[in-house]
Amino acid sequence: MELIDSHAHLDAGQFTSDLPQVLERARQKGVRYIVTVGTDLISSIRAIEIANRYPFVYTSIGIHPHDADKAGEADLKKLKDLARQPKVVAIGETGLDYYRDYSPRPEQQQLFRDLIHMAKEVSLPLIIHQRHAQDELTAIMDEEGGWTAGGVMHCFSGSEEHARRCLEKGFYLSFAGNITFPKATLLRRIIRETPMERILIETDSPYLAPLPHRGRRNEPSYVEMVAEKIAELKGLSVEQCGKMVTANLQRVFKLG
Ligand SMILES: [Zn+2]
Ligand SMILES: [Zn+2]
Repeated sequence: MELIDSHAHLDAGQFTSDLPQVLERARQKGVRYIVTVGTDLISSIRAIEIANRYPFVYTSIGIHPHDADKAGEADLKKLKDLARQPKVVAIGETGLDYYRDYSPRPEQQQLFRDLIHMAKEVSLPLIIHQRHAQDELTAIMDEEGGWTAGGVMHCFSGSEEHARRCLEKGFYLSFAGNITFPKATLLRRIIRETPMERILIETDSPYLAPLPHRGRRNEPSYVEMVAEKIAELKGLSVEQCGKMVTANLQRVFKLG
């Protein structure tokens, strides 16, 4: 069995006491790649350190839209230097979050534009976070030519139309444990309509645990439940599904 976790936050405080055991459980389940995702400069530096310690962990560096108001020019400059580190495979997370609105929207937009430029300059794909902002996000991607960087819409939660748009533009859709929740009928419909060659799976650990762990700490080994749900929706075995998403991850992040 071969699995991936395209999006986890291994630098989160929830993992400080037992990260080696968490990663060992993931290995036992067959997880071949984990991409640990930075959410600000410090978190990105920690993510690179973790990736450097574990051969099957890669990293994406960026600044989350939640933290847009705390990021300055100096952070961007340092991130750009770090982007050349060998285990860095993407820029993100970045994007827009108008659901929580933790940072003012104009600052989220500017930072998103800056990180799109960075991804293009360093020739890395983007890992994009989007909540309740899909039209504006699409407009910025169009204006900045962000689609040409390639990349992933992580924890996809948009409309069917938005999914189609992202797929047309060559992006991958990454699905998380929330596809197992009873109310996620729209997401399950989108998965049925998305070509298997464009699907990735993730945990977004330590957040967003799938059933039956909902509400508790999530970890990369639980990605198996996401794979099971996708396999069921696509009429595949979990093994086939795992193989395909692994190939997709290698393609989008130019690994292997
Ligand atoms: Zn996110
Ligand atoms: Zn995340």
